[in-house]
Amino acid sequence: MAVVLVAEDDQDIAAILTRLLTRAGHTVLHTPDGMAAFERAVADRPDVVLTDLGMPQMDGLELTRAIRRHPELADTPVVMLSGHLHPGDGQPTAAGVCAVLLKPCPNDKLRAVVQDLLDRGPHAHDEASTGCPAHWPVTA
Ligand SMILES: [Zn+2]
Repeated sequence: MAVVLVAEDDQDIAAILTRLLTRAGHTVLHTPDGMAAFERAVADRPDVVLTDLGMPQMDGLELTRAIRRHPELADTPVVMLSGHLHPGDGQPTAAGVCAVLLKPCPNDKLRAVVQDLLDRGPHAHDEASTGCPAHWPVTA
């Protein structure tokens, strides 16, 4: 069974994501900000991290960079879910995000992207080139 770490400060959205991913057969760990998510990732080694962009303490971009810098977490797939990005925004890719989904994201798409990254498994992100080799585009 796969473990998905959800970093989301909005309790309502967190509850929706947790229910959705649990129903898809995953074990969900929820944390309310990037700092807590990073600590949880170090402790529990999730298979995929699903992070909001805007959060207190440490935002989703900072969380992704921290994961990519950590020797044992660096290859963990990261999905960013946000209502504040514009399609084509290069910051998530530069930080090492694998896929960006814009809120509100259809359940089917969210499940499919998480499953795709679970199937792909851990993979390297080359800062010098294009970041993630999964190349999921920003999608509405
Ligand atoms: Zn990736």
